Amino acid sequence: MNRFADQVAVVTGAGRGIGQAIAGRFAAEGAKVAVISRTQENAQATADNLNRERSETARAYAVDVANAEAVATVCAQIVKDFGQVTVLVNNAGITRDRLSMRMSEEDWDTVVDTNLKGAFHFIQNLQRPMMKQHYGRIINITSISGLVGQAGQVNYSASKAGLIGLTKALAKEVAGRQVTVNAVAPGFITTDMTKELPEAVRQQMLDHIPLRSFGEAADVASAVAFLASKEAKYITGQVLTVDGGLAM
Ligand code: NDP
Repeated sequence: MNRFADQVAVVTGAGRGIGQAIAGRFAAEGAKVAVISRTQENAQATADNLNRERSETARAYAVDVANAEAVATVCAQIVKDFGQVTVLVNNAGITRDRLSMRMSEEDWDTVVDTNLKGAFHFIQNLQRPMMKQHYGRIINITSISGLVGQAGQVNYSASKAGLIGLTKALAKEVAGRQVTVNAVAPGFITTDMTKELPEAVRQQMLDHIPLRSFGEAADVASAVAFLASKEAKYITGQVLTVDGGLAM
């Protein structure tokens, strides 16, 4: 399939894990990709891989999504480099897990500023070109923690629930310009973020997943690609859960 020929996708947190799989899917289906990561090293490694498959497909940009000024500079550069943006995937995210009674203000702020405010920063800078061209797809990567809550993750769950509210409110603001805004809520996906969990916790999770396996980054990328495609033109303001049935 070449669903994204002549399109430009911006993917945050694409240096590793789910974001890297999403960037790869867009590139495989014909898009040019702006690969965003916190570190230049990881952004460049993903972009180099994509360019090996097909030259001049991807460019790497290192930025802290929580830094409004730096994001504005990077977004202006992306628009200059590619001439347009048709898809934005806000995927960059972190955890700082701790029970709420022991959570520091810094742990709260860092997680909310990265996961929620980071998405807002990219939206503020890239929704205008989408609205001007009367076409755009914005996809926010939330989590089942934002739907059902997770003990030890009040900061993370709040940031991900916030992303769902942002998704629905923004969907209403931009629908008139044929820009759709949706969220994808992964469950337990095998990446750096989850591989540190103790074996006992992993087994406990598996026992609760109806499909009896953890998800792969590619499973999330498939859902994102669908929502970003033209086939999804009549879907906006929705949350698509990719969790093997865990949060049913
Ligand atoms: P990883 O930890 O594997 O990768 C996170 C990516 O985000 C990295 O590329 C990292 O950059 C980037 N990043 C982190 N902080 C910043 C920042 N401040 N500015 C810019 N980029 C940043 O995470 P996953 O792939 O597992 O998760 C991706 C998304 O999916 C997250 O939003 C996460 O909350 C969500 N999710 C994941 C689940 C899972 O089970 N894995 C479940 C539910 C949701 P760098 O590589 O340069 O360090």
